[in-house]
Amino acid sequence: MALNTNLVSQTLAAIASVVGDRPSPLHAPVFAGREWEYLKECLDSKYVSSVGHFVDRFEADLAAYTGAKHAVAVVNGTAALHISLLLAGVLEGDEVLLPALTFVATSNAVSYCNAIPHFIESEESSLGVNPQALREYLQRCCEIQNNQCVNKVTGRVIRALVPMHTFGHPGPLDELIALAHDFKIVLVEDAAESLGSFYRGKHTGTFGKLGALSFNGNKIITTGGGGAILTNDAGLARRAKHLTTTAKIAHVWRYDHDSVGYNYRMPNINAALGCAQLEQMPQFIETKRKLFSDYESAFVNVIGIRLHKEPVHCKSNYWLQALVLDEDHAAQHELLLHTLNDAGYMSRPVWTLMHLLEPYKSCPRMNLSSVEGLASRIINIPSGVELLDPSPKLVAQVN
Ligand SMILES: *Cc1c(COP(=O)(O)O)cnc(C)c1O
Repeated sequence: MALNTNLVSQTLAAIASVVGDRPSPLHAPVFAGREWEYLKECLDSKYVSSVGHFVDRFEADLAAYTGAKHAVAVVNGTAALHISLLLAGVLEGDEVLLPALTFVATSNAVSYCNAIPHFIESEESSLGVNPQALREYLQRCCEIQNNQCVNKVTGRVIRALVPMHTFGHPGPLDELIALAHDFKIVLVEDAAESLGSFYRGKHTGTFGKLGALSFNGNKIITTGGGGAILTNDAGLARRAKHLTTTAKIAHVWRYDHDSVGYNYRMPNINAALGCAQLEQMPQFIETKRKLFSDYESAFVNVIGIRLHKEPVHCKSNYWLQALVLDEDHAAQHELLLHTLNDAGYMSRPVWTLMHLLEPYKSCPRMNLSSVEGLASRIINIPSGVELLDPSPKLVAQVN
């Protein structure tokens, strides 16, 4: 018992030594760049909605930053995932593999395609999909028929695999690419949390056929609400733009639509915010990496808990800092959450695993015992840029 009290009080002290004793949110946005200037420009021009140059600029800036050939800005990350799955060829009645350890948006996007989520294991080292366990599972339960991966149990085609880069840490992409190739499955990345994260020097979200980003208020940069589809395929990018803009055939005054499209286009006013936010990425990443190293030093002598670190060959954006309790200290999880939140350090457990959610209870899944254990030991702690830099200066205005 004395040991347990120790772990909790040492954790509290470690966090206090980094962020001070003021109340600390989990992840607050920072607007220290040209946000006001660009928003004013939007309002003055009256182009606030579906037309305006900030959308084009934000897409070009995103492509340049990520190295993707094309970026299509949309209303949120869920919409980006939905359209990415449709364009990856996911059909009604298909199965889509995704980690049980993710935010509900990944599962919902699969459901919007009338497809069925099929939940898979995660690994402790990257918090991403466990590629060895998945390969063994697919070898057992699937067979290739007509160049498609068929689930022998359900008879359905397993069309796509959607790895998610948890808290910004890149998953094991080399292994997943090989696996997708061997089993004839399309790779679509949920890179909603990993803008600014690189795997072997290449930006996450650019490895699959398509990748989805999110700019929700709690992500590393925000457009209020927003998302983007990344792809290197010009044809897919064109179709993404078309589908997300009501499938309207371009014409000066005529309203012709060639399929059931979606009103998923990002408004100009959100894109204006995005342009200003993206300019600050280098400072954001630098500060978040510094926050990690400060926490790492503070936790070095705390026994029974570790701070999650970027996997080898990766450069992570450290979007959310995560503590992982050792297995023999897992019982402290609940007490830690209470103590940290009571002290004003906003902390939270990882999402309820997908296969435990009411709408997804009966979906197919592999044995998820290790991710169930892992999930019960994770705690996210205050991670925002403002924690180290409470009053960030305006970014130097360069033209
Ligand atoms: C944030 C997030 C999304 C997308 O969320 P939106 O709120 O729709 O932008 C998707 N997947 C994961 C894992 C996320 O964290």
